[in-house]
Amino acid sequence: MVKVYSNALEETMEIDRIIGHIQGSEPGPTVVFFAGIHGNEPAGVFALKQVFRELKLRQTKINGQVYGIAGNLGALKNKVRFVEKDLNRIWSAEELVQIDAQDDAISSDEMEMRELYKLLTHILTLNQPPYYFIDLHTTSGDTPPFMVLNDSLLNRKFASNYPLPIILGIEEYLSGALLSYINELGYVSLGFEGGKHEDIVSIRNCIDFIRFTLGITELVSYSVQELDRFKRELLSAGEVTNRFYEIYYQYEIETGSSFIMEPGFENFQKIPKGTQLAVDNGNRLVTHRKRQIFMPLYQELGSEGFYFIRSVPKVLLWISKGLRKFKVDHILVRLPGIKWKSLKKDALLVDLRIAKFMVKSFFHLLGYRARQVNQTHLVVKSREVASKNVDYKDARWF
Ligand SMILES: [Zn+2]
Repeated sequence: MVKVYSNALEETMEIDRIIGHIQGSEPGPTVVFFAGIHGNEPAGVFALKQVFRELKLRQTKINGQVYGIAGNLGALKNKVRFVEKDLNRIWSAEELVQIDAQDDAISSDEMEMRELYKLLTHILTLNQPPYYFIDLHTTSGDTPPFMVLNDSLLNRKFASNYPLPIILGIEEYLSGALLSYINELGYVSLGFEGGKHEDIVSIRNCIDFIRFTLGITELVSYSVQELDRFKRELLSAGEVTNRFYEIYYQYEIETGSSFIMEPGFENFQKIPKGTQLAVDNGNRLVTHRKRQIFMPLYQELGSEGFYFIRSVPKVLLWISKGLRKFKVDHILVRLPGIKWKSLKKDALLVDLRIAKFMVKSFFHLLGYRARQVNQTHLVVKSREVASKNVDYKDARWF
């Protein structure tokens, strides 16, 4: 048992790794919520506890299984983002092998990762698809609630049921996020940012989000009116249009650098040209053109200073859907300078000296995430190939 404190509620609560688990009486989906992957974000933990309490008290009929899982227990106890390593930046196949091999020489955060991994494997072996993985977070600055997800058509389709802004493509900038790892296993997985860390409204938003998710996944058979009510509650939490946005720039803070964000920036805020955003190691960071800022960093820990985003026009969403459905990538490999990088045909190697006309944004449309390997080569990896679409075909939202 670990004690978790919420400044917003002025309340302490004792939790285990599993905050709640209910096995339903009828078959249905498996819905897994994570909270407190970052220890200074207890809102999701309190929200989950509350929803599980409600479900039990009201004896709500559950179809399938629902889990609420605490992320970084050690960090939650100490009210810090992480102890030594950010638990949301270390999820990679290589790291998992390493953690398994070197038994005791690992950080407490890696120890937590090992436990979570075991639990995840356990859940995936014991239960039935369709699986849904939701990760609850909060941010250091003020923000209306929003969702982040890896850009696969499956994720997009599921996420478009929510009346919230959706941010695509964060996985291109952040490596080792828990959700990206799960997404690469082929399951629907998305992150929810409920608001500012210690704001009471963030707990409220997480509760609304969880309830709505229970309905959308059909884990609970709410009436149309009830589901509508949950939707309206979620909608009322923010004033940002519920559309798709993509991240196109990340400001990376170098280790040991003194980064100070200028006060008062809000998430999704439109910033005019010539605005000073931050000071990094004495250098003033000023916008050279109009920007829309995303996730400005207002806490000490973290290496991402801020991002720039832009909304994705509907027509591009349609085009990209078409391109992916017709597997245009399989035609591209006939062009000079482009070849498959893996036998699974889920990654391409692009020689930019030959395929000069190929730009990252085009690969984004095709559902690839791009990583520049060197000056001349780009490796792009498909987010579509792994998607377990069949598992979801009977779901109402699908
Ligand atoms: Zn977080």
